Amino acid sequence: MLLGLRAATVRFDGRAVLDAVDLDVAEHEIVCVLGPSGSGKSTLLRAIAGLQPLDSGRVLLDGRDQAAVPVHRRGVGLMFQDHQLFPQRDVAGNVAFGLRMHGMAKNERAARVGELLDLVGLPGAERRAVASLSGGEQQRVALARALAPRPRLLMLDEPLGQLDRSLRERLVVELRELFGRLGTTVLAVTHDQGEAFALADRVVVMRDGRIAQAGTPLEVWQRPADAFVARFLGFENVVEATVDGEAAITPWGKVPVPGGSPQGTRTLLVRPAGVRLVPPAEGLRCTVAARTFQGTHVTLHLQPRDAPRLEAACPLRTAPEVGAETGVEFDPAETVVLD
Ligand code: ADP
Ligand code: MG
Repeated sequence: MLLGLRAATVRFDGRAVLDAVDLDVAEHEIVCVLGPSGSGKSTLLRAIAGLQPLDSGRVLLDGRDQAAVPVHRRGVGLMFQDHQLFPQRDVAGNVAFGLRMHGMAKNERAARVGELLDLVGLPGAERRAVASLSGGEQQRVALARALAPRPRLLMLDEPLGQLDRSLRERLVVELRELFGRLGTTVLAVTHDQGEAFALADRVVVMRDGRIAQAGTPLEVWQRPADAFVARFLGFENVVEATVDGEAAITPWGKVPVPGGSPQGTRTLLVRPAGVRLVPPAEGLRCTVAARTFQGTHVTLHLQPRDAPRLEAACPLRTAPEVGAETGVEFDPAETVVLD
């Protein structure tokens, strides 16, 4: 294991911001910690880098306790949330920063900077002023700077947070490819689920300084650990239910669930695709409260008479208008009883 956290705890004013966190990252793995703002993500990275002392617990790199190891000897790279380029230095000066700190010779440095700028898609940008770069270009320079000293662990704090959506979606694919090619071990943190799911081999969901769930993107997406994780992933049809055999008693009436589901009082998740529209006389009667065009489909907010709203996904062609009455049935293949 390249990185190991053992009951890592950081308190500010008596409050645990990291609360006994256990986390392993294997060599060549890309792990993404996903959590809302204030859940302790930046503190986690700062603690691993040695910028934030632990109140208790341990940080291990290659199995060795880092308590007595200063920041510059840990061999980890940290790209900060607000990438913090040096405005008075040009691109090359920024990328070479860590190399100079490590005492690399000048000509060797220049070659390495050129190599890195090629790598991040900014060939020949050495002499450009930082202020002349777009947000996406600055992000690439910050990445090149973090990669330059060849850290054994690269840590990224909200790496794409400030970029607009289309650029973010493109860069995340590039990054994953790049890290795969370089064999870089990466620990990234983000509040953006799309980013986490696109980048990571493994996603770790954090809530109030604790790990709420860890798994592959598919595992977490298919089976959120609890109502918090499900809601944080953007699912809205999450309710308390009583499961009895292959049905759940819910505020929406009886909802079929897959065979083998956990029984008793549980949290039930119905994915939007599992809310099927049927004629108003059939199923649960709802009024269409809102309709959002999503490109490939339409998201509907359906208001039953005496139950929480339901979110449904349906094809554009068959989507009813706001104010229309519809019936709803549930598809057990898209319902999940959470453990
Ligand atoms: P995230 O990166 O997930 O948004 P942070 O790790 O930055 O979360 O912060 C977690 C919590 O710790 C927040 O409530 C924040 O206000 C608090 N915090 C962070 N740094 C300090 C500090 N140096 N002193 C006191 N409180 C802090
Ligand atoms: Mg942060």
